[in-house]
Amino acid sequence: PQLVNRIAAGEIIQRPFNALKELIENCLDAGSTTVNIQIKEGGLKLIHISDNGCGIDKEDLKIVCERFTTSKLKEFEDLKAINTFGFRGEALASISHVSRLTIITKTEKSPCAFKASYSDGKLTKDGIKPCAAASRGTQIIVEDLFYNSSIRRNALKGGSDEFAKIYEVVSRYAIHNFHVSFYLKRIGESSMDLKTPGCPNRNLENEQILQDTIGIVYGADLKKELERVSIDFDEKFKFEMMAYLTNSRYTQLKQMTFILFINERLVDCQPIKKSLQNLFQLYLPKATNPFIYMNLKIDPKNLDVNIHPTKHEVRFLYQDEIISRIEKSFEEKLLNSSA
Ligand code: ADP
Ligand code: MG
Repeated sequence: PQLVNRIAAGEIIQRPFNALKELIENCLDAGSTTVNIQIKEGGLKLIHISDNGCGIDKEDLKIVCERFTTSKLKEFEDLKAINTFGFRGEALASISHVSRLTIITKTEKSPCAFKASYSDGKLTKDGIKPCAAASRGTQIIVEDLFYNSSIRRNALKGGSDEFAKIYEVVSRYAIHNFHVSFYLKRIGESSMDLKTPGCPNRNLENEQILQDTIGIVYGADLKKELERVSIDFDEKFKFEMMAYLTNSRYTQLKQMTFILFINERLVDCQPIKKSLQNLFQLYLPKATNPFIYMNLKIDPKNLDVNIHPTKHEVRFLYQDEIISRIEKSFEEKLLNSSA
């Protein structure tokens, strides 16, 4: 059974960024306003992520790495409403099967922090130990990813490729969650740090910080040419959309950059991407590629939640109708800005 679990885990966690994405979502679920990430050797040697969120109760530390253990589903009914893509309570379990995992955590009411290490879904024999009182929050330390799977390790190209993908994922979550301050550090190198301001008062109306964060990642020249498009909640197809895109004056991208969040999760949706690509080909000068950040909210009931967790591609009900409305709103924008 251990081997079976390891194979299952290796399917979910194929590369370091898959693990990091799950860990970031946990920090956000815990209500954190700062997320610090340190990476060694593209995450294969070390992923260390600390947050200032709610922390984990000592009692829960025993079971957090068991499969399907989640504090986020209180009742079965929630299963239908929750913003899930068929992936609950499996992240820490999976990571513990393919790495050496340590958690240090402190809740508000606990006088001290606790530390626990895991292997193959279970606490190691050291158990749970108190440690010096840090402030509230959680640190997750993932060491030697894929140490027990030479096939997986050998399939990866190396630290730089993995770090590039990690940088992409962190910067995208930082843009989407602009109220949270993200810090990404590549240990041993200074050139590739990322630091975003966050927004301590959580004023989500303040999209200036969203634009600033896009500017930090993609540069001030791109930020200058950003334009906004949005669709208010649509009663019929139960969705809303907000996006930023670059206009025809911005010509520096080598390929289209399309950042898509559906219900707070970074996903791919080829049909949306294709339709926008075709549209931009009509309106932008040749060889000009757009930047698009899109925040799409769809009634969770209409999302296909049974897609396998490794598939980032999502499907949803009324897909054609929703895409054609998105297309229309973008087309109006492009018509106006080229006029
Ligand atoms: P899920 O997020 O689907 O519940 P995970 O395996 O990702 O499953 O996490 C298991 C549980 O561990 C969570 O439900 C949560 O209670 C706890 N947890 C994990 N990471 C954090 C964190 N950074 N802060 C607080 N609690 C956390
Ligand atoms: Mg999770």
